[in-house]
Amino acid sequence: MQISPHVYSVHIDDDSFFHPGGSNIFFVGNVSSGMFMIDAGENDAKWINTILNGYASLGHPTINGVLITHGHNDHIGGLKHILSEIDAPVFCHPKLVGRLEKLLGSKVVNPIFDNQSIAISEGVNLLSIFTPGHDETHVCYYINAEEIMFTGDTVLGSSSSTVQDMSAYMDSMHRLSAHKVSTICPAHGKVCLPPDGGRLIPKYIENRLNRERAIIGSIGRGINTVESIVQEIYSPQLNKGLKAAATRNIVAHLEKLVKEKVVRKNPINLGYVLVS
Ligand SMILES: [Zn+2]
Repeated sequence: MQISPHVYSVHIDDDSFFHPGGSNIFFVGNVSSGMFMIDAGENDAKWINTILNGYASLGHPTINGVLITHGHNDHIGGLKHILSEIDAPVFCHPKLVGRLEKLLGSKVVNPIFDNQSIAISEGVNLLSIFTPGHDETHVCYYINAEEIMFTGDTVLGSSSSTVQDMSAYMDSMHRLSAHKVSTICPAHGKVCLPPDGGRLIPKYIENRLNRERAIIGSIGRGINTVESIVQEIYSPQLNKGLKAAATRNIVAHLEKLVKEKVVRKNPINLGYVLVS
C-alpha cells in the first residue's frame, strides 16, 4: 500500500495476540532510483513470503539499506533470509551491531547514530532518533518533508506498547513529540494517517501519565503490591498473556516512580508506599 509519495507499506496479517492489527514493513524512497527498507520481520515463512511479494509488487527496486528499529526477533529474525533475496547493507543502533553480525555471518553491519540524516534517494532524507524504553536499541526514523514518523514498537497503531524502562521511554516520547508528525507508521497495528496521526504521540504520553497518576492513587489508598495494582488498574478479565504484559508495564512505572522518589518500597512487607 502506498502511504505517501515516498513510503510504501507491506502488511503482514499475523494479527496475533502479541500484535493486534498485524505487522508492517516499510519501503521508503523512489521505486525507480532506490529505496531503504525498515525492519525485516520475523523468521517465519508467511512473513518472509509476504515481504518478498510486497517487494516484487514494487518492481524489485534497488534497496540501498535495511534500517532496523530494534533487536527483537519480529524485527530482525527474517533478516538473513530477506538479505539472501535482496542484497543490501544493514544499519542499526550501535549496541545491536555485534548481535546482527553474529546472526548474519560475514556481513558487515553499520552503526547509525542519534540524529543522523540518512540520504535515501534524491530529495528524501530520514532522520534517526534514538528512542530507548521499549528496548535499549530502539531507533525511530522521521521524514521531515512528509511529516511521517516510523515508530517501530515505541508507538503502535492498534494497542499500547510494552515498556522495559519507563523513564527512558517517556524521555523518548517527548523527543518524538518535538517533531511535527502527521502520519505514524508503526511496526504493528494500523498506519495512523492524518488527522489522527498527529494526535497519537500526545495521546500515548497522556495515557502513560494517566496510568502513572492511577498507580500513585492506588498506592495512596494502600493498594501497594504489583499484583494488587495490576488488578485494580486493568480489567480482572485480562487473559494470561496480557496480564504478563500489564504486569511488566506496572513494574516499569513503579521503577520510574522509585527513581523519581515519588514512591519507595517498604523494606518490611515489600509493598510500595508514597514518599511524603
Ligand atoms: Zn515488535
